[in-house]
Amino acid sequence: MDLDKGQEEKQQQGLINASGVAHLRDPSAKLPENLQALQPLSRNLYWVWNRRIRKIFEEIDLAAWDGLGHNPVLLLQRIGAARLAELSSNQEFVSKAAHLYEVQRQYLHEKENTWYQKTFGILERNELVAYFSAEFGLTECLRTYSGGLGILSGDHLKAASDLGIPMVGIGLFYKRGYFTQQINQEGWQIETYPENNPSELPVESVMDRNSNEPLIVSIPIEERQVRVRAWKASVGRNTLLLLDTNLPGLNSKEDCEITAELYGGDIHTRIKQEMILGFGGAKIIRALGMRPSMFHMNEGHAAFVILERIREIIEEEKPGTSFADAAETAKVSNLFTTHTPVAAGIDVFGNILIERYLSWYCKKIGIGLKELLELGHEYPDSSGFNMAVFAIRMSVHVNAVSKLHRRVASKLWKYVIDDLDLQKNLRSVTNGIHVLSWVSNAYADLYDQFLGSAWKDDTSNPEVWAEAKNIPNELIWETHVSQKRTLIEFIRTNFFFEGYNIPVEQILDPTALTIGFARRFATYKRASLILNDKERLLRLLRDKNRPIQFVFAGKAHPRDHEAKKLIQEILNFAKNEARGRIVFLPDYDISIARQMVQGVDVWLNNPERPLEACGTSGMKALPNGVLNFSILDGWWDEAHSSENGWTINPLEHFEDHNKQSKADADALYFTLENEIIPEFYNRSVNGIPESWVEKMKHSISTLTSKFTTSRMVEEYARNFYFEHGQIAETLNKGEQGANVLDSASPNNWDK
Ligand SMILES: *Cc1c(COP(=O)(O)O)cnc(C)c1O
Repeated sequence: MDLDKGQEEKQQQGLINASGVAHLRDPSAKLPENLQALQPLSRNLYWVWNRRIRKIFEEIDLAAWDGLGHNPVLLLQRIGAARLAELSSNQEFVSKAAHLYEVQRQYLHEKENTWYQKTFGILERNELVAYFSAEFGLTECLRTYSGGLGILSGDHLKAASDLGIPMVGIGLFYKRGYFTQQINQEGWQIETYPENNPSELPVESVMDRNSNEPLIVSIPIEERQVRVRAWKASVGRNTLLLLDTNLPGLNSKEDCEITAELYGGDIHTRIKQEMILGFGGAKIIRALGMRPSMFHMNEGHAAFVILERIREIIEEEKPGTSFADAAETAKVSNLFTTHTPVAAGIDVFGNILIERYLSWYCKKIGIGLKELLELGHEYPDSSGFNMAVFAIRMSVHVNAVSKLHRRVASKLWKYVIDDLDLQKNLRSVTNGIHVLSWVSNAYADLYDQFLGSAWKDDTSNPEVWAEAKNIPNELIWETHVSQKRTLIEFIRTNFFFEGYNIPVEQILDPTALTIGFARRFATYKRASLILNDKERLLRLLRDKNRPIQFVFAGKAHPRDHEAKKLIQEILNFAKNEARGRIVFLPDYDISIARQMVQGVDVWLNNPERPLEACGTSGMKALPNGVLNFSILDGWWDEAHSSENGWTINPLEHFEDHNKQSKADADALYFTLENEIIPEFYNRSVNGIPESWVEKMKHSISTLTSKFTTSRMVEEYARNFYFEHGQIAETLNKGEQGANVLDSASPNNWDK
């Protein structure tokens, strides 16, 4: 494909996305003329969920692709001249690149046929959703996430793009991102913080339209102005803006470090980060001329955006408005999603801290500190400003992230909710995952064949997935077995097994029942529950005929000593007793998560109920034919049946944590011994576990559609983003109460 100047311009225009921010061409581009198409392909994260585009990067140089952490921008910078010349004279490759550029262009330009278009009509409505989150997990090379909250935000943006919903994401650009996990010889987690270099990432500087310099806004912090710039990542049709204070020369050294680390530093760093996210985010989108019709706060970190909105109303939109009236006006366009079932999970800033950092605001707006503090006090005269309480009070829509979590959150925030009569507005929108980002290529090929070519565009449609019932059992099983071999091969070639004292060929057995467990090592998730009765576990691991094995991964928060001990406990057992039947993979990230959810037989989840607000890793297992085995917590509480997986169902419930863990572990072993293991090893004459495969098919065909981010974002769009008030009316007509609320949802999963 040749791009002359005119075409180049068009290309740039073509890539102006729904949020109205233009792409800049990479100045360092040195690609041959006929491979120019690779540039825009590398610059839009659409490649993350288009496997043909992903494949073309692999084709350039598979080893480099893997070695550079699946980063196409870096790949194109590092690729040698010889290889480039080779590709440039390979006509097939050249036309493939041109074709994929066309595929991307069509996706980006699709306006008529998107779900948003079809559901809400003409685009004259000028709607834009601003989606705020402290973390965004879009792909492994952009390390702006720590765990589930970030993955959810990333998947949310991708689904919004697929559905054609105009959305701008706002987060922070962390210079050092979340840490890289290494494990020392004692099994202790060591954190290192490699620097993110924006020029080597799929991000571009957001420029000031007038000066062609980086766009900068300032936020008052104490007595000074802190400058903030933004990086943009293109997420399909939408844009993610990542705010950054690392501006040496403009900011003091200390202020440059405000956005350096995700959840790093002390309480002062935390409040400053949240000021950058909330105030800075609102200012940046204004400077870009965006006027969102909805502000969606994913957890409380960004709640200060509300204060900036109120300031805008009072100082710019309707001068003379009182604080109370401006707050009422702002409220209508606020949506708050809570993810936390425990009070300890929320940021609470002491009153003195608020005085120190927000007095300027009170002065500017003409309110007393007391008036501001009251908005974030859970009870009269609380000692701190609670970001979730503040967001709940100041949002017309509030939602929890699973049905069970809605009930838990209603209790947790009872005082605030009763006060506001929010009980009828606290809704639940169960989380989901972005299928195309998590499904293996092998299963995607199967679905191309059996679900019809449009399955990719309609992942929340149960009728599409029902067709999975027709995939022959042999094919399902064959595909699964090859995925499992791929995982084990990946593990054996990419990790060192120092201290395991066995040859690498004996690390895991491709024929053994393989159970995966990977998530943040927060103590409530009880990663080591399976070690509760070591003798009983060893019998299962060492069984000659029907062995089981485990793959673990996960990071502990740097300050969570107890969680680090859990890693150590698992590693000790893996190295000493388990003899290659348990491995712990260091540095859990999106890439390892993807490999694991695609290749194990069973996905295990055993948190302390009801502390898992939703959980999403088990949903990633669904389209990959991996079966869930879980405590009845979060999403599994509303998904499980005897036909689609297994539950850990303790005989008794205890207040005491240790007793409960014992009961849960007993239930876990019991189900493994009596149901899961026999079913896995019960083979037909041709070696297929028929009833197991039936379960896989049931899980794929009935659960996948429900737990997609498409279904989830559709719910957000219908209930909150674009139909203000309508739902509340429906609800008010009905009876009140928990169950009524859940079933009254006009678009529970049936389209
Ligand atoms: C999906 C995912 C999570 C969240 O998993 P949960 O089951 O919700 O705990 C965390 N980290 C990574 C890297 C993930 O991919």
